[in-house]
Amino acid sequence: MDLEEKREKRPPVTPMMIEEEAALRNGSRGLPPGSWAEAAGPRPRTTERHIAVHKRLVLGFAVSILALLAVTMIAVLLSVRFEECSAAADGPPRASGNGSLPGAARQPPGAGQPPGRPEHEEEEKEARGGEVVEEEEEEEWQRRRELPPWTRPRLPRHLRPLHYNLMLSAFMENFTFSGEVNVQLEVLNASRYIVLHAHRMHIEAVRVAEDKLAGGVRVDRSFFYPQTQVFVVVLNRSLEVQKSYNLKIIYNALIENELLGFFRSSYVLHGERRFLGVTQFSPTHARKAFPCFDEPIYKATFKISIRHQATYLSLSNMPVETSVFEEDGWVTDHFSQTPLMSTYYLAWAVCNFTYRETVTKSGVVVRLYARPDAIRRGSGDYALNITRRLIEFYEDYFKVPYSLPKLDLLAVPKHPYAAMENWGLSVFVEQRILLDPSISSISYLLDVTMVIVHELCHQWFGDLVTPVWWEDVWLKEGFAHYFEFVGTDYLYPGWNMEKQRFLTDVLHEVMLLDGLASSHPVSQEVQQATDIDRVFDWIAYKKGAALIRMLANFMGHSVFQMGLQDYLTIHKYGNAARNDLWNTLSKALKRVGKSVNIQQVMDQWTLQMGYPVITILGNETTDNVIVISQERFVYDIDAKPKDPALGDSSYLWQIPLTIAVGNTSHISSEAIIWVSNKSEHHRIPALEEASWLLGNINQTGYFRVNYDIRNWRLIINQLTRNHEVISVSNRAGLIDDAFNLARAGYLPQNIPLEIIRYFSEEKDFLPWHAASRALYPLDKLLDRAENYNIFNEYILRQVASMYLKLGWPTNNLNKSLVQASYQHEELRREVIMLACSFGNKHCHQQAATLISDWISSNRNRIPLNVRDIVYCTGVSLMDEDVWEFIWMKFHSTTAVSEKKILLEALTCSDDRNLLNRLLNLSLNSEVVLDQDAIDVIIHVARNPHGRDLAWKFFREKWKILNARYGEALFMNSKLISGVTEFLNTEEELRELKNFIKSYEGGAAVSFSRAVETVEANVRWKKLYKEELFQWLRKSLTH
Ligand SMILES: [Zn+2]
Repeated sequence: MDLEEKREKRPPVTPMMIEEEAALRNGSRGLPPGSWAEAAGPRPRTTERHIAVHKRLVLGFAVSILALLAVTMIAVLLSVRFEECSAAADGPPRASGNGSLPGAARQPPGAGQPPGRPEHEEEEKEARGGEVVEEEEEEEWQRRRELPPWTRPRLPRHLRPLHYNLMLSAFMENFTFSGEVNVQLEVLNASRYIVLHAHRMHIEAVRVAEDKLAGGVRVDRSFFYPQTQVFVVVLNRSLEVQKSYNLKIIYNALIENELLGFFRSSYVLHGERRFLGVTQFSPTHARKAFPCFDEPIYKATFKISIRHQATYLSLSNMPVETSVFEEDGWVTDHFSQTPLMSTYYLAWAVCNFTYRETVTKSGVVVRLYARPDAIRRGSGDYALNITRRLIEFYEDYFKVPYSLPKLDLLAVPKHPYAAMENWGLSVFVEQRILLDPSISSISYLLDVTMVIVHELCHQWFGDLVTPVWWEDVWLKEGFAHYFEFVGTDYLYPGWNMEKQRFLTDVLHEVMLLDGLASSHPVSQEVQQATDIDRVFDWIAYKKGAALIRMLANFMGHSVFQMGLQDYLTIHKYGNAARNDLWNTLSKALKRVGKSVNIQQVMDQWTLQMGYPVITILGNETTDNVIVISQERFVYDIDAKPKDPALGDSSYLWQIPLTIAVGNTSHISSEAIIWVSNKSEHHRIPALEEASWLLGNINQTGYFRVNYDIRNWRLIINQLTRNHEVISVSNRAGLIDDAFNLARAGYLPQNIPLEIIRYFSEEKDFLPWHAASRALYPLDKLLDRAENYNIFNEYILRQVASMYLKLGWPTNNLNKSLVQASYQHEELRREVIMLACSFGNKHCHQQAATLISDWISSNRNRIPLNVRDIVYCTGVSLMDEDVWEFIWMKFHSTTAVSEKKILLEALTCSDDRNLLNRLLNLSLNSEVVLDQDAIDVIIHVARNPHGRDLAWKFFREKWKILNARYGEALFMNSKLISGVTEFLNTEEELRELKNFIKSYEGGAAVSFSRAVETVEANVRWKKLYKEELFQWLRKSLTH
């Protein structure tokens, strides 16, 4: 699964107006979005109804009390409900033998009601009906001194599903569906209870029969237990061990409006609104679409049939085997049986999309389905083409063929995540898969590419071999994220993604988050279903990927690859936990004669939160001996660790520290030192007077390195004299380490600023990118300081000469250019962004000229790769007419990538009225898509002229926003960090704390992270701001 906004978002460049004016202002500007806090956050999830589950727990108590006051009325309701339910449960199922669904199911409870009307009332009654039964049952279990099996957070282990037959009828005209599921069950321990997941559905009938024999097992009663989202079938005799049974359930439900389970969305074609239905089951939403054992460990085979109007087509994981047409214009598609798989990877869709198709060398049919106009324009061709090549790449890399006969990619207008890797039917939000080469920038192309590489990796890591339980979700997500870079290198060999861009986009980004005391271990315990969303966060994705990369590097890439091949071969069609992987990798190492206990090493990295900073000190008294020590890195040393039992002093890691010695023209080959103690002495041969040490070669390790000041000075001299002695990735690594060590107070403030002094000679993209990202939070800490212009001037000086050398791109990209000049174009883009952000006059003029040309000619000749910078600079510098012009273009354009940057440009204005207008419009779903509203608010918060507006707007609208995005929602946590991350005064900290106190709970994790971040900001300003300015003043006068 791919979270929204995974990669760096291009920032609103918020340039200074006019320089004279700038001198008078305390304004600041936007650099690239460091996204150090943007990253944050538990996972997407949606809305009111989910909260209803939490609330229902509380409501449960209230209802019981109310029940005493209104006994008669409720009792009548309950008994009526209960009779219906048990009648249905006990009576003969109404389905006819040929598998068609009962007439009643064609008119499910939603039918005739306006679409979207939730089934709340039904469900509430059901739940209360359940409470009565459940009390009786619970008493019985209390006598046995055990918890009833349906109240436990995990399903009881006495049954195992072997195969599901699922027949669905989708009624798109009223957004309901009915289903009949037949589950073949194996009994592992005798029991009278069948407990399986089912949520938000109306169950019409339940029947249990011994397999093969026709004899039924009488159902005593059945009920929902909403707290654990299960449905309980109580039989009047025990199911016998080692026999298998068939459980048949007939049910119906809504095709939901919220984006989970089986849900609907729509798009407009030729002025007409068209609807589609599609599923999102990960992590725990299959239970909303059919009763099932909805835990990853219960792998089974599935045979699905979907009945729908013939004007639609249906898709599922497997190809259609047969289609049966009926006279009334309906058709039933019968899909082939799946291999063994987990419920959360099941998928189906009912839509009237069209497709294009390709076939891999090994014969896998790949189709891209999208709305007909997009297919006609060819917007899916890029994705289709790289998918074919990537399947071939993975088949070769893993030495395990793709498991299914086909893979469909489905581009949908609305989806809760960027994409979801359902086996054979992966779903993507349109912005992450459709691409129009004539108007897409390199970064957009990169985004699309990497999302596809990610989802395809999951066809092996996830679909084929599935984590046993959600605590190890980081394994599948870490792998998919890591392979985004490896797979993109396969497609574009010159881009060096794994060696370079991985550092800035993954490693540096997640170390910002994981350096907070309120972080958490990458492997997290998960019990309740409601906690599962929490584990899909940036720590799981990015730290997971960074740890896997460290592992691949200390193992050696070829041994690592062999180990992965073994792991996939051994566990295919099954589940595996992290220890299974560690064992397989240890064995692979053993085969090449190396003995490392990978489990022992990796447990420290996956079960402890945070990461170490290594300090390397030259020993002044003894030659050639250095002292290496480790401690946990934290930004705010005053912040309390989340678990006080784990004081920072107890943190230790086994660290594969690579180290090299350099002098003016040469660097030695690297040696590896395993550091496992708090402090160690090591002998380094050939350590001469003028030679410097470099640790963590090419930044393959997940830690920071600090040195004594003498060594830092030698490194700075080396960079100034001949920076190419130090590799590109190490230059980027040194920059990121230095800025962050200084921010946390481990290093004097001037060191990072001295490091970037060699930038007039830096021709590689990566160090620029690392610097621009590291400067971003520093800029935000200083932007309201009186002496801000000193900082501004210092940065402009470092940028000026490369800006002059590189100039502006003159024409638009064509396809071949993308391949050839990625590094060069990205470098130029980065430098232009810094120049325009910090107020380079020429940069401002150039942007204004380009915008004026667009307005006067109505032809957009602005080079694609800098359009966002130009739009933003134009909106910020020029008058209101430009804002109106961009606003008009935002409405009229249909290309998704263009729409997004136009909207973001609107947040760059320095006119507070316009910013307020935009904030208010952002909540109007007709104008701004729900998922884009958050970007609008965050981008206004990054604009120095709008920061307080966004902060105020956030607090005033919190109730609306929280209701819209839900409290466990990834979007919500992104919003919270985006709006608060740059607050840095005592007053703002107080406002934040008061605000948290004044509302009723929710999003506690995000808010505690926000408080820690703002506290660290305030602390840094108090301790180091003056030191920095003093040095800057001195430096500029020299
Ligand atoms: Zn994923």
